[in-house]
Amino acid sequence: MAKPAWKASNIRKGLDGVTGIIYGRSASESIKADICVRCGKPAVEFTDEISRVEFGISGLCQKCQDFVFAPPPEEEDDGSLSAPDIGVYDDFDDRFDMEG
Ligand SMILES: [Zn+2]
Repeated sequence: MAKPAWKASNIRKGLDGVTGIIYGRSASESIKADICVRCGKPAVEFTDEISRVEFGISGLCQKCQDFVFAPPPEEEDDGSLSAPDIGVYDDFDDRFDMEG
């Protein structure tokens, strides 16, 4: 069982609130259960100690850390940036009626 890294309780509550809205589960509970807050899969394999410590902070498994903390996207020729697809807004239009 991983132990959530110490955080000022208000920060921890804020993070749990945000992850609850985005991923449907709190970071604290995910860390205690050794599951990834983002993908919900077991978070037990890490490439190094830093990644293991990061799990205790963010609740992200190795795969999701690699994805979320990937280097910033390259700037396109036209100067625009291609935002990474983090899956959060996939159903945005379904959830919020943007027409009215
Ligand atoms: Zn994950």
